[in-house]
Amino acid sequence: MEKKSENVVWHNHSVNRELRTMKKGHKPCVLWFTGLSGSGKSTIANAVDYLLYQRGVHTYVLDGDNVRHGLNGDLGFSDIDRVENIRRIGEVAKLFVDAGLVVSTAFISPFKADRSLVRNQLSDGEFFEVFIDTPLEVCEQRDPKGLYKKARSGEIKNFTGISSAYEAPEKADVHVQTDGKSVEQCAEFVVNALIDAGIVKA
Ligand code: ADP
Repeated sequence: MEKKSENVVWHNHSVNRELRTMKKGHKPCVLWFTGLSGSGKSTIANAVDYLLYQRGVHTYVLDGDNVRHGLNGDLGFSDIDRVENIRRIGEVAKLFVDAGLVVSTAFISPFKADRSLVRNQLSDGEFFEVFIDTPLEVCEQRDPKGLYKKARSGEIKNFTGISSAYEAPEKADVHVQTDGKSVEQCAEFVVNALIDAGIVKA
């Protein structure tokens, strides 16, 4: 990124991250849901959000489409714009983490390099790559938005899993295999991983 702001000095505030974490009673982090279209990212992210809310965890879901209406409204879908889209989402997620929240994002994010970019924007233990692992055949069968049908007929080009690659995480922080499981079971699996990692209390 080209830096255009000179002479800008970072302020350290008196109420810092440690104090905010103490007050909230849980640690902050990013839950970066990745997976094929229709794998269940949004559905599971919302179910996790609800379970965490019930546990008194301060959460927020950063919705990709909503972000594209506002903050990223000036970005299209060229390679440069896609990278900038992810970079800005990473920066916003980082601010939420600094504020003490558990923030979830649900983007296909098919490329390892893009996911690494966000991981590198955050500190160790603050970024959880949550792989929603659903076989392509199952996603295609669900086809909740009718997109696979359009991709197969050629109406949509560069569709992840059909005509564009999905680079599956090799070592996801949380690996959720959804086939044969209910949404609730998948969401509980993610929450248990957060308990094991010491983000939220048992
Ligand atoms: P994505 O955000 O990955 O594109 P969605 O969450 O929009 O996917 O759609 C997933 C669809 O699969 C939903 O209609 C959901 O009800 C269904 N589904 C069935 N079983 C599961 C499961 N175990 N986990 C998540 N979604 C499931």
